Amino acid sequence: MGNLSRRSFLKMGAIGAGAGASLAFANTKVSKEESMIDPNEGVKRVKTICSICSAGCGIIAEVKDGVWIRQDVAQDHPISAGSHCCKGVDQIDLVKSKMRLKYPLKREGGQWKRISYEQAINEISEKMLKMREKYGPDSMMFLGSAKMNSQQAYYWRKFAAFYGTNNIDHVARI
Ligand code: SF4
Repeated sequence: MGNLSRRSFLKMGAIGAGAGASLAFANTKVSKEESMIDPNEGVKRVKTICSICSAGCGIIAEVKDGVWIRQDVAQDHPISAGSHCCKGVDQIDLVKSKMRLKYPLKREGGQWKRISYEQAINEISEKMLKMREKYGPDSMMFLGSAKMNSQQAYYWRKFAAFYGTNNIDHVARI
């Protein structure tokens, strides 16, 4: 490589690649038809609400061919009046996430297996009753959710009381 160090050689390569990419971009011709494509064509604006917490801020879901493709704020929403918190602004990704839990799963032999809601409720309630019998009702802690509204929080409180404990936290912090 003569006087040229390996480092300088790599730098030159990077500059060359960058210049090539810029040139290629500049040379891209956009046809008149392409430049006139309306990104909103066939897009329905559907009013909905953010489901992350019970504040229920307004969201406009932009839907094309049955797929939620973009999210906008709902300026005319009576509560949020066109704003979101940092969680709600990403509601679209939450809905489309591959990690989203859509049905009950049970881990068996190291594998997650889909089960019915009925089976999940039966198994969990059986375990809760066994725990109460063996360790007493204060062995259980009931955690609510910011998703819960006042009425749901009321039911949750009652549920803990019927179980026999005051170990309960609503979780909402707003
Ligand atoms: S998570 Fe944020 S955007 Fe969603 S409803 Fe609650 S406050 Fe509104």
